[in-house]
Amino acid sequence: MQMLAIPAFVLDTSCKVMIWNRACEHLTGVPGCEVLGTSDQWRGFHDEPRPSLADLVIQNRTDEIHQLYPRQVNPGRPASHLTAESWCDMPRVGRRYLAADASPILGDDGSLVAVVQTLRDLTDEKMAQIKLEQLATRDGLTGLANRRCFDDTLLAEWARAMRQSQPLSLLMVDVDNFKSYNDANGHLGGDECLKRIAGAVSGEMRANDLVARYGGEEFAVILPNQSLKGAAIVAERIRSRVERLQVPNRNGASTYVTVSIGAATALAAPDSSPGELLAIADAALYRAKHMGRNRISLPLTETC
Ligand code: GH3
Ligand code: MG
Ligand code: MG
Repeated sequence: MQMLAIPAFVLDTSCKVMIWNRACEHLTGVPGCEVLGTSDQWRGFHDEPRPSLADLVIQNRTDEIHQLYPRQVNPGRPASHLTAESWCDMPRVGRRYLAADASPILGDDGSLVAVVQTLRDLTDEKMAQIKLEQLATRDGLTGLANRRCFDDTLLAEWARAMRQSQPLSLLMVDVDNFKSYNDANGHLGGDECLKRIAGAVSGEMRANDLVARYGGEEFAVILPNQSLKGAAIVAERIRSRVERLQVPNRNGASTYVTVSIGAATALAAPDSSPGELLAIADAALYRAKHMGRNRISLPLTETC
């Protein structure tokens, strides 16, 4: 046990640490002499006392794993074997993502003698997974949700709105005369401008709203449980906030970079679809452009 490459500790039936191997010392930064013979295994992993998986097995409290550890893996294993993964703010070595396994050690007569808990540091794998998830859902330039994430979210929010008979609003935001901005400032200058606009749009969002880069110089905003009236207020705030950035766009009709916004709201109607909501918001955006840009436009009715 002491020389095992896998970090491990063993608790006896009164939850005292019997073994705290070298790899566990290395993982936690806590030497065995600090915890051996005590019930203080938590010192390796937390700032305050907290039962480990091994404690739960010994004390027959395996049901409590759901409150203590958010992610339990391999639920098909016997109830006496516990497995969990979680972020851990470890007092000596900092924040790590740990996978833990606790298994009982039984005597010849089947009675519990001790429980061994093994640990794996999965921080690097977890960080790589988070990065991949970000790459799959985020737009590289602006950091906003990407088109794919927008499509998935719109479908999910649509289903929820229909189920709960709540309205769902959508804004399509398009930068005005952006081609001339690019022509005057170069593509990199245009990229910087898009980042600033992305910041301005997301600055007007509530926690449940989603703002995405829909494509090129176009953004889309999903506003769950928002009426057309509420959506119009958000749209006007976004329009005015972008204008107040005062990014010069001398070649355009206005002095500054501005946006046009089309809004649409769906009310629970079983024969409608997210595609119709998009089409209505797009048509409203087209009208805003047609009427002279730097304005918001609403459909005539609140339903689609
Ligand atoms: P309108 O007011 O009608 O929307 O005019 P516009 O010039 O904004 O529209 P148009 O569709 O003619 O041109 C969009 C421009 O946006 C052209 C394209 O080069 C630029 N653009 C699209 N994506 C990016 C990007 O990622 N970075 C930069 N810098 N420019 C982009
Ligand atoms: Mg445009
Ligand atoms: Mg466009």
